[in-house]
Amino acid sequence: MEIESSKGLRKNFGHLKCFGFIGGEPLFCIGPHWPFFLCLFTFLLIIGLFFICFVSPSISSSNTIIGVSVFCFLLINFLMAALINPGIEMRTVRDEDLEPDEPDNFCSICEVYKSNMTEHCDDCGVCVQEYDHHCPWTGKCIGRGNINFFYSFLFGLLICFLYCIVTMAMTIQEK
Ligand SMILES: [Zn+2]
Ligand SMILES: [Zn+2]
Repeated sequence: MEIESSKGLRKNFGHLKCFGFIGGEPLFCIGPHWPFFLCLFTFLLIIGLFFICFVSPSISSSNTIIGVSVFCFLLINFLMAALINPGIEMRTVRDEDLEPDEPDNFCSICEVYKSNMTEHCDDCGVCVQEYDHHCPWTGKCIGRGNINFFYSFLFGLLICFLYCIVTMAMTIQEK
């Protein structure tokens, strides 16, 4: 006789569509605001391609290499922030250290016990560990799982902006 796992793998958590499971935890999640992500990603990609294909080649090949690098850095980090599991809280067992009469921080929507710094997001419909904020531009929450990619994305925005300004200034100077 075989004992089968009663639940199997859940595909969705709250309003997040999840795929790629490791040990029952999803590796990737797509948030409810994914169209915002798609718009901004396409917009940044078009700006990057415009500079790399049309502006930069008239300056120097090293400028093109820098352009490819900074835009790849930006887009990869943006993609990772938007795809990777933000840190969905999965704890279904009450903390053993808690006294029986202590409040246990139970989320009745997700039916999980929240750890310290875990917050429930109404947009995503899940509890997120080390919740930072809900970011429509990545389509979902920023939490423990994707906050480093999110900060790298912000840093990428800054260096891409500087790259575009410098490249435009060099183009104007050469004319
Ligand atoms: Zn919750
Ligand atoms: Zn959220």
